[in-house]
Amino acid sequence: MMSDYRCSVCGGRYENRRVTVELYNPQDELIVVKNVPAEVCVQCGDELFTAEITHQLLELSKTPPLPIATLQVPVYDLAAA
Ligand SMILES: [Zn+2]
Repeated sequence: MMSDYRCSVCGGRYENRRVTVELYNPQDELIVVKNVPAEVCVQCGDELFTAEITHQLLELSKTPPLPIATLQVPVYDLAAA
C-alpha cells in the first residue's frame, strides 16, 4: 500500500510488518499492544501506521478488552540518576 513511500528520516524503504506498540492510555498507564500492522523502514526502523490502525489503538486504549498478559515493568528517571 505504501511500498513506494520513502522514509523521511533516512530515505529507506518501508515494508509491512507486525510490531509491538507501547502507548499510554487516558489513565496514563502504559499499555502494550502486539501484532499491530505497520509499515516499518528497513533501515532505521521508523514505524508508520494507517489512520485506521491509529484509530483502533486509540479505541483500544480507551475501552480495553481483557489483556492477554500483564507485565510489571521498572520505571526510571534519568534526572534522578
Ligand atoms: Zn528510515
